[in-house]
Amino acid sequence: SKVPSITLNNGIAMPQLGFGVWQVEDDQAFTAVGQALDAGYRSIDTAAIYGNEEGTGKALAASGIPRDELFVTTKLWNSDQGYDAALRAFDASLTKLGLEYVDLYLIHWPVPSKDAYTETYKAFEKILADGRAKAIGVSNFLPGHLERLLGETSVVPAVNQIELHPHLQQEESRAFHARHGIATEAWSPLGQGRGLLDDPTIGRIAAKHGRTPAQVVLRWHLQIGNVVIPKSVTPSRIVENIDVFGFELDGDDLATLAGLDTGERLGPDPATFDVA
Ligand code: NAD
Repeated sequence: SKVPSITLNNGIAMPQLGFGVWQVEDDQAFTAVGQALDAGYRSIDTAAIYGNEEGTGKALAASGIPRDELFVTTKLWNSDQGYDAALRAFDASLTKLGLEYVDLYLIHWPVPSKDAYTETYKAFEKILADGRAKAIGVSNFLPGHLERLLGETSVVPAVNQIELHPHLQQEESRAFHARHGIATEAWSPLGQGRGLLDDPTIGRIAAKHGRTPAQVVLRWHLQIGNVVIPKSVTPSRIVENIDVFGFELDGDDLATLAGLDTGERLGPDPATFDVA
C-alpha cells in the first residue's frame, strides 16, 4: 500500500493514515468503506456507538482484501464499561463486524465519573491475551487518566486516540504519549471540516504547494508523527485525503502551522463527558 505504517509498542504495524466513519449511516458506511478500500486505505476506524459496524464489516468482506492486509479499529461505548460488560460488548462488535479479531480495540471515553476504566481495561487485556485484538488502547484519555491506568494495569496502551488538529495541537498529551511509548492518533484531524480548512494561513501554504487545505493539514499530522483517520463520504475527497504522500511541508510551513493552536475543542471535554 502507498500508506506507510508505524510500529505500535507491541510490534504491531498500523497504517499511519486510515478512514474514519463517524456519523456515517450503516448502509452508507458499506459504500464509503468500499470506496476507501478501492482508493487504497487499509485502516478503518469505527466504534460500537457509530452504529455502522455491520456495514463496515460487509464492505471489508466484499472487498476480498486478505484479512492480514486490513487494520480494523472499533471502540467500546461508555455504557459497556466494566469487566463483564466489556467482554460482552466486544463479542457483539466482533459479530457485527463479521471478524475473528480486530486489530485495535479502544475504550471510547474514560468517563471518570463511572470510575470503571481500569476494570474495563483489564477485560481488554484478556481480549488481547486471547488474540481477539492485536492491540488495545484508549481514546480521549487525559494524561491523568493514563497515569492511573499505567499504575493499575499491565499492558501499556498502544494508542490514545484524541481530538487533535492545528487548532488543538495537544502538546502535553503528545509529550506524555511519547514518553510512554503510546502512539497518538488524531480524531477530527481536519477539524470536522468546520473553519479550520478555511483558515487563510493554511490556504496560503496549500497554494504554495499546489495542494488543498485538507492535504496540508493531513501532511502536518503525518510529519509530526500522528496517526490520522480523516472522514469523508465524498468519493473525490476520499481520494484526495489519501493522496498526501507526494509532497512535503518544509520547516517554515511547520513553524507557521505550529502557531495556529487555539486550544479550543470541537468535541467534549474528556474530564467531564459521561454520556451513556
Ligand atoms: P474530520 O476532521 O475527519 O472531518 C471530516 C469532515 O471534513 C467531513 O465530514 C467533511 O465535511 C470535511 N472534509 C473531509 N475531507 C475533506 C476535504 N478533502 N476537503 C474539504 N472538506 C473535507 O472529522 P471526524 O469525522 O470528526 O473525524 C474523523 C474520524 O475520527 C471519525 O470519522 C471517527 O472515526 C474518529 N473520531 C473519533 C472520536 C472519538 O471520540 N474517539 C470522535 C470523533 C471522531
